[in-house]
Amino acid sequence: MTLRHLQGSGMTSQRTRNRLITRLTEQGIVDERILEVMRTTPRHIFVDEALASRAYEDTALPIGYNQTISQPYTVARMTELLLENTETLDKVLEIGTGCGYQTAILAQLVGEVYSVERILPLQKKAKVHTELLKLKNIRYSYSDGSWGWEEYAPFNGILVAAAPNEVPEALLQQLAVGGVMLIPVGEQGGMQTLQRITRSENGFYVEEFDPVIFVPFLAGKE
Ligand code: SAH
Repeated sequence: MTLRHLQGSGMTSQRTRNRLITRLTEQGIVDERILEVMRTTPRHIFVDEALASRAYEDTALPIGYNQTISQPYTVARMTELLLENTETLDKVLEIGTGCGYQTAILAQLVGEVYSVERILPLQKKAKVHTELLKLKNIRYSYSDGSWGWEEYAPFNGILVAAAPNEVPEALLQQLAVGGVMLIPVGEQGGMQTLQRITRSENGFYVEEFDPVIFVPFLAGKE
């Protein structure tokens, strides 16, 4: 991939990307840190060449293996809710690496990202993408995210990019006191609710946000 490809042109140019940022602002995203990182991160390198011209539309796109790159608004919204009321977070666990777009956004805003994916070819793609962007503060695990990532727990933030029916117990256990988890919860094939779970010394506090549509959270490795 050349520098020219990274920079983009036409439908992948900076101008097109700026339009997406304007749209995110119109939809209520206010955190300048996130808007700036999304403005400068080339989303088109995360999708197949044939879809590159649609990379700055505010929509999910297929990335193979029945999975999708998350919609930019959803990435912005979840990241905003994760980082609200904080300067930054040291350690963030991401479940559902996919093509690595959300991972790349997080890596530019937090200390370390620990990202788990159950489909190996997707994890490989994500590694290529984030290496192109020279992001070094990411560790990848090929595993079922229901188990979290015990070795590096506890995490100050957890972001889940696939929807389970119920919040996996291991993820609650691996959330640090004072930590925040963003997770879509609900029936598969329908709408889910975006939840923010904050852990305090006394337990877990749950807030519900927008209805969202995510791919299912699946057990085991593929
Ligand atoms: N943020 C990613 C979203 C990809 S879609 C992106 O923008 O590309 C959600 C991802 O979650 C898929 O890649 C899917 O394979 C993965 N996934 C689903 N259930 C999982 C589980 N139990 N453990 C780890 N990854 C999971």
